[in-house]
Amino acid sequence: MSGVPWFIKSKYDYYECVSAMQKCIRRGDEDNALFWATELFIHDAAAHAWSRLVVIASEDVGEADALMHLKITMLRHSWCETPKDQQINGKGRLFFIQAVLMLVHSPKSRKVDHAGIVYCEGERPDREIPDFAKDCHTRKGKELGRGYKHFFDVGARLENEAGQDIYRDSAKKIRMRSTDGLTPGPGPKPNTNLIYVPGGITEFAQLACNRDLGCVNGCKYCYGPASMHIKREDWTTPRVKENFLENLRLTLEKRERDDAPKHQVLMEYSGDCYGDPKDTMTGEAIKLMHEFGYGVCILTKCPTNALKDIHLFDSRIDCLGCTITTFDPAEIKEWEPKAPRPQDRLAALKEFHDAGIYTWVSMEPIISPATSLDVVKLTHQHVDHYKTGLMNVRGVPLPDGYSNHDWKAYAADFIAMCESYGRSWFAKHTLESYLPVGAVNEKFRPMYHG
Ligand code: SF4
Repeated sequence: MSGVPWFIKSKYDYYECVSAMQKCIRRGDEDNALFWATELFIHDAAAHAWSRLVVIASEDVGEADALMHLKITMLRHSWCETPKDQQINGKGRLFFIQAVLMLVHSPKSRKVDHAGIVYCEGERPDREIPDFAKDCHTRKGKELGRGYKHFFDVGARLENEAGQDIYRDSAKKIRMRSTDGLTPGPGPKPNTNLIYVPGGITEFAQLACNRDLGCVNGCKYCYGPASMHIKREDWTTPRVKENFLENLRLTLEKRERDDAPKHQVLMEYSGDCYGDPKDTMTGEAIKLMHEFGYGVCILTKCPTNALKDIHLFDSRIDCLGCTITTFDPAEIKEWEPKAPRPQDRLAALKEFHDAGIYTWVSMEPIISPATSLDVVKLTHQHVDHYKTGLMNVRGVPLPDGYSNHDWKAYAADFIAMCESYGRSWFAKHTLESYLPVGAVNEKFRPMYHG
């Protein structure tokens, strides 16, 4: 307030006067709203009254007239532009009175205020970022190889679309020009980073390439949904990254230009590149890797599906790994109900082993010590190397009594058994603290016959 203090000029309490103005506007009481508003206006509180009218436009009108806030703001702007000596007693008051009348007679809604209370002050349990939000404008979307096709088909989807958009298809074509490789255009850069150095996890291979988002096997202990921020129910409908093979070639060409080191490439950390029996893309990817001098380290729960590509594997640079955690029917039913039978996995592993390909088994996660050790017993004739590790996936309850197992005894038995069969072994970080003193846990071991 400026000039003479409010409490000298008006006989009313300032806050009660403001409150009366707003309550009368809410109730559509024109006479009283105008009285209390002008009580503020003529007693040196015009600027404060205007501020409150702008608030009322959102708090009490809100969605009922989405433009009301703008209208009141414009009237206030006109009032501010009025010469000072005409703001109260001259034409300036027209703007003020009009604003009060518009608010009095406007339809009302307090939804904005109530929604603010609910969303800003209420409980806020964590939510997952929706998959459709991960488009080419986000880091995750880029990692998933999503380009403008995904953006136009998924990211730009509208509900309640008004009118017919006759430009959509042309705009999509223009934005996709650079990704179809036919013409130059302003589209997104192709993903030339499909092969990467795995941060901290190099026990499989020195390089990695993830092709899929999701996995048909739907194992209950899978860490994929958590690490990729995807709901478990959506995880079991896998999708291959957009333009995977094109981008893999571009990635390999870029690495060639950059003189990047050539190593074996793991496919893949999450997902199963042989999950689909009809898929031919993994075979094409293997050929591409070989063309550029890279080996592959395949990790799958569906090695039977890989048999059609067995002729593509090169024993000097490639290997085939298979996850087998247990042969126990009850554990399989509980943890891997949708994955192929471990017996079938072993049969396929045998074929790869007989063909001279380096084979290995990931026993991670251990479901129970005894059944895990059985895996070594039952498979060692067809397997060159074993990796094992405890179950520790966020959000996945551990099997009963899991923490009470004697993991030191398990680790000692695992090592002794592998070594008695002449097989190499590796214990993941989850098991490392239980290893016998002096045990040499090699962080990286080439998995090919060289
Ligand atoms: S096979 Fe691997 S990626 Fe697929 S669901 Fe099972 S744990 Fe997850």
